[in-house]
Amino acid sequence: MADSFRRKMTAYEEVNWQYNKAAELLGIPEQHKAIMRNCYRELKVQITLHRDDGRLEELYGFRVQHNGARGPYKGGIRYHPSVDMDEVRALASLMTWKTAVVNIPYGGAKGGVNCDPRSMSEKELQDLTRTFTRKIDMALGPYRDIPAPDVNTNAKVMTWLMDEYSRKHGYTPAIVTGKPVSLGGSRGRESATGLGVFFITRHACKDNGIPLSGAKVVIQGFGNVGSWAASYLHEAGAKVIAVGDADGGVRNDKGLDVRALIVWARDKRTVNGFPGGDSMPKDKIFSVPCDILIPAALNGVITETNVNEINARMVVEGANNPINPHADHILAEKKIPVIPDILANAGGVTVSYFEWTQNLQQFYWEEKEIQLKLEAVMDRAYAETSDMARKRQVNLRTAAFMVAIQRVYDAVLLRGI
Ligand code: NAD
Repeated sequence: MADSFRRKMTAYEEVNWQYNKAAELLGIPEQHKAIMRNCYRELKVQITLHRDDGRLEELYGFRVQHNGARGPYKGGIRYHPSVDMDEVRALASLMTWKTAVVNIPYGGAKGGVNCDPRSMSEKELQDLTRTFTRKIDMALGPYRDIPAPDVNTNAKVMTWLMDEYSRKHGYTPAIVTGKPVSLGGSRGRESATGLGVFFITRHACKDNGIPLSGAKVVIQGFGNVGSWAASYLHEAGAKVIAVGDADGGVRNDKGLDVRALIVWARDKRTVNGFPGGDSMPKDKIFSVPCDILIPAALNGVITETNVNEINARMVVEGANNPINPHADHILAEKKIPVIPDILANAGGVTVSYFEWTQNLQQFYWEEKEIQLKLEAVMDRAYAETSDMARKRQVNLRTAAFMVAIQRVYDAVLLRGI
């Protein structure tokens, strides 16, 4: 097994490695396996941004549509200096499998721009978003491809995208999800990924004999996903004992005051310096002993070089693709269960689906109704995945891929290749 890991894989190769393993177990014929592995459409666009100080910056934007057999393409838009075609392909592919695991009628897509939003003013961010939207406009549409927020993008960015698209096509709230509630967004969308992480963690704790009440939780990333997951876990009686982000970390073995930490992080844009715990270096976050470790920042953060630092009873992937296949294999050998991204963080796209449905109907639901519907979707997805894991004697990641690939394959065959 170690032989397959000798060469460092790219993010897209990592996802395909997991895909191949599951597709082989399902016995998918080679040619069909390749068609479902590869991306359907890839756009790369040049963006020239006039910075406030008069400089002209050349940036690149990407939109990849991976597979649309089960419905319109769906996936977030990320603003980060490390965004490139390979990463966007990997994340688009994960979206295909994620929407299939939770059985919502979408295909998979992803987009991004290789900018550094932390160095940009609001005006620059708006200009960038509008230019990017115009340049990928031909691939978008409420029944073709529907973007959403991801790392460093939020409801405001989604509003600019919707407004720019609507200037050309007429008012189209269903072109994007993750909008503000006042502009056709769904109640419960902002917290949905974190709430979904919570629902899945609750099931996984039960299956792995970890009492949730009093469980020690460590989280990397305290943005949308990390902070909401922390909040729901804290409410359920778990103790969030350490949190790290791009600027630092904070630890308190008695349990951090999550509400106060959220207020601090909103105000200072980092958890660093929070007075309710001891400061710690951000790269030591994985070595803090805990019951549940939740990576909820970027992809590729747990590799063969740091996986042995992990001192957790279970890992729940809030982020997309945070663990490379080599590290995943080492965790499996150590019998540390990993709850995979395509299941654990699918709550966001599920409530995005509810938002899109509400936009198309122009009829809006109450938050309680949305949370109950989300819970039902996550419960069923967890049950179907763990059922597959038991029947086929595979881990949850392979099982989730198997459930998803079978659904996409059925749709591909029914529609005709
Ligand atoms: P976000 O921008 O709101 O937050 C990202 C967090 O990660 C921030 O706290 C940031 O400081 C931290 N971070 C960035 N670089 C880091 C580093 N080098 N070390 C430690 N921390 C670092 O993003 P988000 O929306 O919460 O997304 C987080 C992850 O979850 C991503 O992998 C994303 O693809 C995935 N995800 C997000 C959603 C969603 O609905 N937002 C849904 C599914 C999956």
